[in-house]
Amino acid sequence: MAIGSTVGVENGKTDSVPESFITGGMTPENGVISREKTGENCVRRNVHDATLSHAITEPKADNENTEERDANMATVLAKYENYLLERVKHQLGYPENMDLDHGTPLAWLQRFHLNNCGDPFTKSNFGLNSQQFELGVLDWFAQLWEIGNHEYWGYITNGGTESNHHGILMGREIYSVFKAARMYRMECVKVDTLTNGVIDCADFKAKLLLNKDKPAIINVNIATFFKGTTVKGAVDDLDLVIATLKEATFSEDRFYIHCDGVLSGIMMPFMEHAPKISFKKPIGSVSISGHKFIGCPTPSSVQITRLDHIHAMSRYVECIASRDATISGSRNGHAPVFLWYTLNSKGYGGLQKEVQTCVRKAQYLKNRLRSEGISVMLNELSTTVVFERPKDEEFVRHWQLACQGNIAHVVVMPSLQDGKVQPTCIAVDIGKENCARLQHKGSSATT
Ligand SMILES: *Cc1c(COP(=O)(O)O)cnc(C)c1O
Repeated sequence: MAIGSTVGVENGKTDSVPESFITGGMTPENGVISREKTGENCVRRNVHDATLSHAITEPKADNENTEERDANMATVLAKYENYLLERVKHQLGYPENMDLDHGTPLAWLQRFHLNNCGDPFTKSNFGLNSQQFELGVLDWFAQLWEIGNHEYWGYITNGGTESNHHGILMGREIYSVFKAARMYRMECVKVDTLTNGVIDCADFKAKLLLNKDKPAIINVNIATFFKGTTVKGAVDDLDLVIATLKEATFSEDRFYIHCDGVLSGIMMPFMEHAPKISFKKPIGSVSISGHKFIGCPTPSSVQITRLDHIHAMSRYVECIASRDATISGSRNGHAPVFLWYTLNSKGYGGLQKEVQTCVRKAQYLKNRLRSEGISVMLNELSTTVVFERPKDEEFVRHWQLACQGNIAHVVVMPSLQDGKVQPTCIAVDIGKENCARLQHKGSSATT
């Protein structure tokens, strides 16, 4: 399909193309956009910089030779491919597994639009879907989290954020059922974290006791990554959270726990001493990312909850010809096939090995950084190595480190090769006096 084919085409002729498309886009007068200086580390913060965008240009008059145009597009795409190939080699800070080995066997999928619109358990008339793969993936995770095939409901969302929304929505809807009056608003109480980023259960208990009259909906970070101090790769102890709820005399019908396992929900089952995520415990839902550890090329997340809950919720949603249980309507149909492919080819055993390798590499990286005199922290049950923010922003950008304030982190993923985790001396870039490495501090200074 040619770009621009949606603009009035008649008998192969394009007519009445708005002037601005031909002259090359919106000008500041007809309505845009402040140019401010961007913040550090931020490529584009609501700022329009023409050098950062690939313009879409209007094809010339009909039947003109398109060779030049095609060549231009090919050049842009080739540059982009090269850029991606370079960036993927220097990706340390974000928890994306770059080992995507399904490219060749699944390349043909790109020729199809696949859409798993709506509830995967409801048969769709739209044939271009991957529901069977989606159900296979959901069953696998249901087994991992110990809930029977006839007791769970779930779907593959467009990412961790949607999964969290779904988990919290479930919590709210279920308790609105219990409370007869529907709660349109929810009060959000933030619970403190300890220095290592883990939930502070003393504070949690105090806040529960202050709110004893209300049901509690808790988002437990099985792996935290983005928010607040959670850049530290902390893992909340699910068992401790449940015990605290009991201590505060919240009975099981008065709380709902959504386990945000988006990052290391897939790693926990394979780590010794990790609190187990299981529907045998009083939890309401669990999510886990498809595009992080597992390595799906498109954003996605697996969301699983109890079938009872989804029934309770749907019963109270009005005018449902069918169960309207997903947040998004159209859903990515490619992701389930990629996930199915990865789970099938690696299996439980393969994932287990990868997790163990990542844990070893993270410990190795921690030790190497420490031996270089760099302050570093690695939480138990985590492969997120937190350390002093390098002083050189170019270094941060080059390695795509995730930073917050004075700290930076590397999330060790299966695609991270040993050679890449050698701490790099940046004395050349920033001067020996600024480099924290031991060799520049002692008397035996050599680079
Ligand atoms: C990445 C992440 C999210 C956000 O997920 P998206 O797929 O980016 O929407 C939420 N929670 C945790 C713990 C994460 O690691």
